[in-house]
Amino acid sequence: MKHLYGRAFVDGAVRDDILVRYEHGVLVDVVQTLRVPADAERVDGLLVPGFIDVHVHGGDGADFMDAHGESTSRVIAFHARHGTTALAATTLSASRGDLQNAVEAIARGSVEDGAEIVAIHLEGPFISPDRAGAQDRQSIRGADIHELSALIAEAPRMRWIVTLAPECEGAQRLIEHFRERVLFSIGHTSADHALAVAALEWGAQHFTHLYNAMTGLHHRDPGVVGAALTSVDATAELIADGVHVHPAALRVAVAAMPHRIALITDAIRACGLADGTYKLYDYDVTVADGTARLADGTLAGSVLTMGNAVKNMVELAGLPIETVIPLATEVPARIAAVADRKGKIEMRYDADLVMLSEKFEVERVWVRGNEVAHV
Ligand SMILES: [Zn+2]
Repeated sequence: MKHLYGRAFVDGAVRDDILVRYEHGVLVDVVQTLRVPADAERVDGLLVPGFIDVHVHGGDGADFMDAHGESTSRVIAFHARHGTTALAATTLSASRGDLQNAVEAIARGSVEDGAEIVAIHLEGPFISPDRAGAQDRQSIRGADIHELSALIAEAPRMRWIVTLAPECEGAQRLIEHFRERVLFSIGHTSADHALAVAALEWGAQHFTHLYNAMTGLHHRDPGVVGAALTSVDATAELIADGVHVHPAALRVAVAAMPHRIALITDAIRACGLADGTYKLYDYDVTVADGTARLADGTLAGSVLTMGNAVKNMVELAGLPIETVIPLATEVPARIAAVADRKGKIEMRYDADLVMLSEKFEVERVWVRGNEVAHV
């Protein structure tokens, strides 16, 4: 049994004098008290739930598309050190064989000192070539029920998230076929507003990196962004690196979709490494000044960490920390279907914790009670 004592984000608010006890990786007690056990460790920052990233490709030189156990371990260990205690391993548009290999490797990925892989997010290949971003255009193809079935069979216990374009051939059939089994996310799409609304009716429930790689909101032509902002219960991802989305647009999304925005990194292999040129599937990506771009200037994922996303939402977007924390914890826990055990500092939840400094820097991280970072 271990005890931490100090300020913590509990029940939707920052509270003082919180005693957090955990045992065998699970929180066994969370209580506000002035009676501190002698063996409790006082923490000098703010304890928040571990972050959950539902869209991340890689980091520290490795990528889930490497389809290699060593790469998987590297990515989950790196992001754990930056506050991510659970994640959706995210793939890119690739050949059938490469996707199959990547999913097999992800399904075998271990936890140990890394973030827990709680979901697999297929970003493509059923997307629009016109909004491919840094995705391989040659690999983009029509939605295929058999292909998705075969992939799911590799990791049947995993939560599955699929980013697709509603205009992609076969998209409606695919969504209607798997809607109980898969969380479909609208993204990398040229769809207009009406088609995005239709896709929600077919069963899509999520939007991939809202604003990026989709039709924007014009007041006479509200696009996919307009469909997201006026949706009733769909969720949406935001890349809060200060480059992909203007701070004002970050605020608009949070205001229009309270409790339905999930901060993501969309981080690639180069995340955590020095500026330079790196591989993203078949492309070369150049990283400079915190931005990853293809040779033609197209943004190619990010070099963001969840810790920095949280900090940016406070410091760039100007939102209160109490508003921001759920966007990195409770909301993505729902999306990843682990809200019964992750995303909150609460009894019987996993002992996934982050300690933030006064400047909202990640200083300490625990994954299931195991401390993996201490700055
Ligand atoms: Zn991505």
